[in-house]
Amino acid sequence: MHQLFNNHYRQYTVIVFMWVFCLCLLHTDTSTSVAAITAPDVLQQRQAMHSSAVNDIQATSTVPYYTINGTVNPTTRTLTAAQTIVYTNRTSVALANIGLRLYPNLTDVGGTCILTSVKVDGSAVTPTYGPQRYFVTVPLAKPLAAGKSVTLQISFTTTAPTNADTNLFGTLVWDGTTLSLPYAYPMIAYLRGGVWDTAIPDSKGDIVTNEMSLYDVTLRGPSSGYTFVSTGSTVSTQTVGSTQTVRISSGLQRDFTFALTKLSKKSQTVAGTTINVYGPASRAAVTTSALAAAVAAIPIFNTNIGQYPYKELDIISVDAGNFWGIEFPGFVLIEQDQYTNNPSFESLIVHEVGHQWFYNIIGNDVQRDAFVDEGLTNYTELLYQQARKRPTDAAGTIRYWKEDLAALRAAGNDAVVDQPMSAMSDDQYSTLVYSKAALYIHAVRLQIGEKAFSAALKSYYTASKYRIVDGTAFRSAAQTACKCSLTTLYTKWILQK
Ligand SMILES: [Zn+2]
Repeated sequence: MHQLFNNHYRQYTVIVFMWVFCLCLLHTDTSTSVAAITAPDVLQQRQAMHSSAVNDIQATSTVPYYTINGTVNPTTRTLTAAQTIVYTNRTSVALANIGLRLYPNLTDVGGTCILTSVKVDGSAVTPTYGPQRYFVTVPLAKPLAAGKSVTLQISFTTTAPTNADTNLFGTLVWDGTTLSLPYAYPMIAYLRGGVWDTAIPDSKGDIVTNEMSLYDVTLRGPSSGYTFVSTGSTVSTQTVGSTQTVRISSGLQRDFTFALTKLSKKSQTVAGTTINVYGPASRAAVTTSALAAAVAAIPIFNTNIGQYPYKELDIISVDAGNFWGIEFPGFVLIEQDQYTNNPSFESLIVHEVGHQWFYNIIGNDVQRDAFVDEGLTNYTELLYQQARKRPTDAAGTIRYWKEDLAALRAAGNDAVVDQPMSAMSDDQYSTLVYSKAALYIHAVRLQIGEKAFSAALKSYYTASKYRIVDGTAFRSAAQTACKCSLTTLYTKWILQK
């Protein structure tokens, strides 16, 4: 989602971010050197998972394990924290160093993340910084062998910009009511094919590719009028004097995002998941509409794709100016102008909810393969309209995709869908990754039929849940479902112009 640059683009764009890496996130390693999480950790993390998914977290998990203990100050717009990461090398080769990403330092994000101390297994080290102080190389005394773990201890302060600069991404921001702090912590970098991805992300779309991780987060902040909203679930709250302290378990998530806000919420629980929508008091009716859309969407996606594996989903508005909506794991940011100015507001909400399946639960390399999540997420809007028996809306959605692609072709700008975001123009990005990729999904459906398409969505979810995949994963699921080859179709829509 997200359309920092795509002013013509109609609604939700999402900023994608996250993920990557691959392979089984929960594989069992029989070596004794792996830092298994403790039994109390398992119980703590399971508190964020839907009742059907608690066993997705086991003590054998070797996903990155973050413990963050910090203080949030809305006056200084800061998070000051101590963080521990237990990181296990799940590749087959030794790692010479560990890569970190400091997203707040990106010029387009406009904040700062300053590391005040970095230790590896208890010993202080001196990290080195790449351009924009985004990528950080943490040296190791000796290479981290396959299957071995290392513990990083990092102290840092992150500062968010205000919303005065409309050229910024707008996600990390203080708007006078809400301090939004996505990717505010030092994050393990993305290992693409065993190599740390050091590139400055292209910000015309999502910027975070991440592997599933676990986060145990303790935050302190002012108690008067403020609420912490975050990825995962708050498992304890304590208020002493004017300070509140919350402890949050993420469950298996690709990132940890949170906000401290004075907004009030409306909530509803559906199918074992509580949805909280935080919106401007002056637009309470629209907040109710957003809640209704999310409440309707979740059971539809549970049925058509697979069960949402978390207990909670939060949707919060922010006065940031530069995007429509952006998905984060278990957490959605909506630009508050959309609450009054977007005739496609319902589709915007549905789109960002759909990203919880295609982006968070099933991950992809958002910089290289943005179509993988955006195409299917766009398609969730159609699934939603059809499930709610709105044939006119559904026909309009398909028509829009076709017209969008036709316009790109008429301008002579049609191009290959499966290419890095950085290789596309803004117009190409918004049409290829959203409309053309959704039309590819629709072409698959038309070719294999309703029964096989329905089976393909479900088996794609089951096979790809918690992993990072590329476009061949859905193709494989569809081919298995139809007992046919989709190579020609895939080549036509995704690999060729
Ligand atoms: Zn999107």
